[in-house]
Formats: sequence, structure tokens, C-alpha cells
Amino acid sequence: MSGVSRNAVNRAKEAFLSGRTRPLEFRLQQLHALQRMITEKETEICTSLKQDINRNEISLAIEKLTQWAAPRQVDRNILTVSDEVYVQPEPLGVVLIIGAWNYPWAVTLQPLVGAIAAGNAAVVKPSELSEYSSLLLRALLPRYLDKDLYPVVTGGVSETQELLRLRFDHIFYTGSSTVGKVVMEAAARHLTPVTLELGGKSPCYIDKNCDIRIACRRITWGKFVNCGQTCIAPDYILCEPCIQGRVVECIRQTLLEIFGPLLPIVAVSDMDDAIRFVNEREKPLALYIFCSDKKATKKMIEETTSGGVTVNDVMMHYTLSSLPFGGVGQSGMGCYHGKHTFDQLSHQRACLIRSLGMESVNLSRYPPQDLKLEQH
Ligand code: NAD
Repeated sequence: MSGVSRNAVNRAKEAFLSGRTRPLEFRLQQLHALQRMITEKETEICTSLKQDINRNEISLAIEKLTQWAAPRQVDRNILTVSDEVYVQPEPLGVVLIIGAWNYPWAVTLQPLVGAIAAGNAAVVKPSELSEYSSLLLRALLPRYLDKDLYPVVTGGVSETQELLRLRFDHIFYTGSSTVGKVVMEAAARHLTPVTLELGGKSPCYIDKNCDIRIACRRITWGKFVNCGQTCIAPDYILCEPCIQGRVVECIRQTLLEIFGPLLPIVAVSDMDDAIRFVNEREKPLALYIFCSDKKATKKMIEETTSGGVTVNDVMMHYTLSSLPFGGVGQSGMGCYHGKHTFDQLSHQRACLIRSLGMESVNLSRYPPQDLKLEQH
């Protein structure tokens, strides 16, 4: 990594330690600036990538920040009944955000929104494969946001590995499981917590009794959108052999003139067999179930696991800021979107404040117990 990048990380650290990310007004001002950047530079951003850039996440953070950052009252027990007890979300420090190439704006700006809202500094390392978006992000962010707190470091594997040798307070990584292990290993050396947004194979079960035409249309949209390069795109279809021909035909009809990625179809004997198939493999990032029987649907949800699940459509759970987005097992750890990003990048500090009065109720804590009881 160049000296320039190392300086950027040091500056972010110093800027964080100066305490200027702590006031909510400052965080709101930075979020507004980020929103302004996206609005004013929409054409440039769209030219570099015709992709959703998640302005909604920023609006939500601006609207809810005061609420998210407020102390959260919790239950007290008999020993703390007259104390002030609360959980205070507080900034972690400097967050490293490493992004993948397929949604270069979404996977860097969405964690950044949460990092800013939570009061952190953040070093953003976009993917070198989405070169133009990376360069544009590096040029734009310092023009809109605090120059020291949110540097963009561009570069490839060696630059990322050099960054990973430095100590951060959290690493938020989106990419492949293989590199996820490299990131986690590097983080472990500093006991740095990680969020890993990884990939894996997302299965899609089609029940023989559902509307196969609609199911295939929705599946095909999800599979082929963004040229098939979506982490939660359906990876393979599970269905009974009796509907396989119709599934192929319906997908073919939806795809007329389009050449896209492969969507394998695996024959299973029934839903139980599909459940067994899913459970024999690594825990997927997303699971899709097309089925009109609610009881059977619930059974499949209960008997499997995945980062998220959408029934009778694909990928729609991703669109809700209220739902945590993330993987489980090999598909990742930690989650984000909306308040979940804020929580993920905050320390939930346990706070208990009591007075020095009412010492008599504490007497039994101090030895010698017998004497105290007699005196009392
Ligand atoms: P990648 O893992 O190759 O690269 C991601 C980042 O890691 C890049 O910034 C890259 O510079 C860095 N990197 C690559 N190799 C490295 C190494 N050896 N050491 C240190 N850093 C390294 O991933 P990609 O090809 O850009 O993205 C595709 C993967 O990302 C797919 O597996 C996809 O499923 C996953 N993905 C997941 C999500 C999600 O939200 N879960 C979203 C988008 C993409």
C-alpha cells in the first residue's frame, strides 16, 4: 500500500479520535452531504454504473438517526430497581469497508451510510474490477464528506492485504467466501470484529401445485437481472420431474432473444427431498420457495436455514430496510440494511448508573455478614 493510503487511514483514526463524529448534528450533516453528492452527481454515477445507489437508505438514516442513537431503556431487577439502566449505542472507531465488483455502489455506500450514522470513521476500499466506479467514488467522496474521516483507497489484492495488516475497529467485507476467510484471518490478529457478506448457492424450490408460469417468470427475472451477477440470484431450481418440462418451457418463453447465465434444474421426488438436498449443502445466502400451500411453505422454512428467504418471488427480502440482510454459516456473518447497519457498526454499551445513597440495602454484600446483620 502506498504511503498515501497509510496516511489516509491514520488521518481517519486521528479524525475519529478528535471526537467530531460524536455529535448527531455532524453525522446528519455528513449524511445530507452524501445524499447531495448522489443527487448532484447522478449522471456521472449512472454513466459509471446504471445501478441502484440506495438513496433510500440515506433518507431512512437521516429520518431515524436521533431514534437509533438514543439510549435504549432496559428491564431492571430487584437489586437495580431505583437505578438508571440503559444500552447506549456508541461508535466503534474506524471501519474498513471492502466491496465487491458486481454492485460497486451499493456494497460500499450502504455500509458507509451505517458507518456515518453510527458515528464512525470509515476507509472505503472498492473493488478494482469495477475500476470506473472506484475512481469516481474516490474523486467524489472527499468533495462532499469530511476529507479525513472517509477516505477511499483504490487498488487490488496487494493494496487490500496491506490495509488488512493495519488495525481497524470493524471490517465490513462483501465478496467471495474464499477471500472472506483471508479477511477474517487478518482481522483475528487484531481481534477485530467482522461482517462478512458472502455468496454461496441459493436454491429455488418450485412446488408442483403452484402457478408455474408466474413462478418461472419471477425466477428468470431474478436470475438474469444485472447479467446474472447478483449475490442472491437463484442458483438452481429444485422441482419434481413431472413439472420439469413445463419449468424449462416457461423459462424459455420468458428468455426469448436473451442469452444469460446457466440455471441448473435438479430433480427431487418431493418437498422433503428438496429440504434434504438443501440441508446437505452449505447454508445458503437466500432460499426461494414457490408454493401455494401455506402450511407446506412454513414447514420448508422451519426445516431449512438460509440468510434470508422469500416465498413466491425472488430477492424481494433484500428490498426491505426493516429486514436484516446477511448470510449464515458459509454465506456470511453479521447483517445490515437500515437500522441493522447502524447496530452492526455500533458498540451496544451496557450502562448502569446508581446513586451513593441507600447503602443499607447493600450491607449484606460486605463481610463480615453476621456482624452486619446483627448491627442492622
Ligand atoms: P472478491 O472476493 O474477489 O473481491 C472482493 C474484494 O476483496 C475486492 O475489493 C478485492 O480487491 C478484495 N480481494 C480480492 N482478493 C483478495 C485477497 N486475496 N486478499 C485480500 N483482498 C482481496 O469478490 P468479487 O469477485 O468482487 O465479488 C463476487 C463475490 O461477492 C461473489 O461470491 C458474490 O456472491 C459476493 N457478493 C456478495 C454480496 C452480499 O451481499 N452477500 C453482494 C455482492 C457480491
